[in-house]
Amino acid sequence: MSDNQIISPAIAEMPEGITGQGFFATSFDKAVGLARKNSLWPLPFATSCCGIEFMATMASHYDLARFGSERLSFSPRQSDLLMVMGTIAKKMGPVLREVYIQMAEPKWVIAVGACASSGGVFDTYSVLQGIDRIIPVDVYVPGCPPRPEQIIDGILKIQELVGNESLRRRNSEGYNDLMKQYHIE
Ligand code: SF4
Repeated sequence: MSDNQIISPAIAEMPEGITGQGFFATSFDKAVGLARKNSLWPLPFATSCCGIEFMATMASHYDLARFGSERLSFSPRQSDLLMVMGTIAKKMGPVLREVYIQMAEPKWVIAVGACASSGGVFDTYSVLQGIDRIIPVDVYVPGCPPRPEQIIDGILKIQELVGNESLRRRNSEGYNDLMKQYHIE
């Protein structure tokens, strides 16, 4: 086996389809899903300790680049995966919501850790008891803090969602109703 084969494993799985000599055919939805799921651009919204676990997830040992997500973006308009990591104070809520609203469709959200998912141990007047009170969440990662393996598991779950999402979902009644629940136009 050459060095090149060792360091460049195939990471993108072929979607369902029909294959034969010299051709492969699949649906348009699945081809787009394959591209999207392997090129997610995360926006890390890190406010406290869970953000440190994310730094470890990005570094060489865990290497999020293996999943096509090494291109972080701190501009909402150039990212499609909002990763919220840390305690979100109620004062910070409108900022987080604005960041979410500014992201272009299609977009997904992971709540990383107990604080982002539910307020964690901070059941106090000043802490938002879960970001899903102000924006929709696709995947919750448990733990205080979650280990990088758990964050990667969350990314894999998002990839599964993204790869199987219908291209029509964002225009569907169900999705519009979800946005209305959050008073997002
Ligand atoms: S879940 Fe735990 S580790 Fe993560 S931000 Fe909250 S207190 Fe820190």
